[in-house]
Amino acid sequence: MTAGINVHEAEIAKFGGKAHDWWNPRGELKTLHAVNPLRVNFIREHAKLAGSVAVDVGCGGGILTEGLADAGAAALGIDLSEQVLDAARQHAQARALAVNYRCISVEALAREQPGAFDVVTCMEMLEHVPDPDSIVRSCTQLVRPGGKVFFSTLNKKLKSYLLAIVAAEYLLRMIPRGTHQFDTFIRPSELCGYARAAGLSLLDLRGISYHPLWDRFELSDDLDVNYLAAFERPLD
Ligand code: SAH
Repeated sequence: MTAGINVHEAEIAKFGGKAHDWWNPRGELKTLHAVNPLRVNFIREHAKLAGSVAVDVGCGGGILTEGLADAGAAALGIDLSEQVLDAARQHAQARALAVNYRCISVEALAREQPGAFDVVTCMEMLEHVPDPDSIVRSCTQLVRPGGKVFFSTLNKKLKSYLLAIVAAEYLLRMIPRGTHQFDTFIRPSELCGYARAAGLSLLDLRGISYHPLWDRFELSDDLDVNYLAAFERPLD
């Protein structure tokens, strides 16, 4: 961890190395492509994106950030990898899509623009940082009172170990080996605890389930592996 910054440099380098392949729907990040419509739908169930100001934290190459922009949000994506941000900028530019990208930590952006966003998203990122609690607190500082905050991450269960690591990384090769470490997974109760302590109220928890027979993902009530959470910052 770089002094004072909530980041694992090895994780940033690992994702940076995938930047060239980020937008390949059949490449290493194919599961992010596959689940993106589900994530955008979940967000739209709880937040009005058209005309909103949104920030996507740990945006990578911008798969979700572009989804927010396509749904009508003025979207900013932030990440600590310049390589993934370059891929994100190039892709948005090729589509002539107005999305902004910045290399800044969420903690620093929260100091700079507290309460500036209607919608804050932070997906598949909490399990890659040393201090996820600090990320949740900063996301809370970024959202305006009445605004919505969305997270997704992996649950810490035997089932998530078997499906998200053994099956996804080794048996089915859906994602690259070494993408995830089990001890960084976060139970919904832990995430809700961080969020409650930061001042957020829970709106919804949904699972993202994979059906190997159909090779398809869908939203479900099964929170055991990958799950989405929606929170609201109550009005003051
Ligand atoms: N949220 C995107 C990408 C997930 S991959 C999506 O779901 O489509 C995880 C991303 O988190 C990578 O791009 C990585 O560079 C970024 N990341 C890891 N640690 C970070 C940190 N401390 N601050 C900002 N981004 C971080």
